[in-house]
Amino acid sequence: MKTIGILGGMSWESSADYYAALNRGVKAQLGGLHSAKICMLSVDFAEIEQLQHAGDWQQLADILAGQAAAAEKGGADFLLIATNTMHKVAAEVAAAINIPLLHIADVTAEKLLADGIKKIGLLGTRFTMAEEFYKGRLTDKFGLQVLVPDADQQDAVHRIIYEELCQGDVHDASRQVYLKIIDDLFARGAEGVILGCTEIAMLVKPEDTPVPLYDTTALHAEGAVKKALSAES
Ligand code: GLU
Repeated sequence: MKTIGILGGMSWESSADYYAALNRGVKAQLGGLHSAKICMLSVDFAEIEQLQHAGDWQQLADILAGQAAAAEKGGADFLLIATNTMHKVAAEVAAAINIPLLHIADVTAEKLLADGIKKIGLLGTRFTMAEEFYKGRLTDKFGLQVLVPDADQQDAVHRIIYEELCQGDVHDASRQVYLKIIDDLFARGAEGVILGCTEIAMLVKPEDTPVPLYDTTALHAEGAVKKALSAES
């Protein structure tokens, strides 16, 4: 079994879900006492959040590149960045290591294509919804059409992520806000919605809506388990 490297702590609420999903995934395949081999590095998210909102992506790239190199040194055979947003610096992270990076948008897009989806809604931080590093990859590499909420809705989705979900607060009023936005994306023609922030599945579950949801935390962890147990490098 390969060792899975994870850059976590962004936030730790979702890293805890990753940790459980990776171990459950390996146990589901191998049974008994089997669990995932993991080398996880975890940052102080307050420092990361400050740099994000100050727009200092160079410093963020340097921090994550250093953590990635440490994960490789610690025995990781491949790497996950356990947040959608920080894939904004995925290229810089990948350049700092000699092990593969399993990109969260790629595993998500592969599942969408397998399900025959062509037009998809995207929820995430404002960085993920408004900028091109994530949407552009879904479009250019996988031919998907991506719909995002309008500016006011993006503000609400972004605020709830940082002020509530990343701090472990799950409120029904915020769930209703998200469900309305999901309905709007569906009404605009989205065949499903990507939960493109690793904390959103804490708030919105498949049973809350008839719209198909694509939980990036679960898909990323599933892809990592598959890779960890495959014979290919
Ligand atoms: N975990 C979130 C994501 O998947 C947001 C936290 C962050 O900014 O990294 O985008």
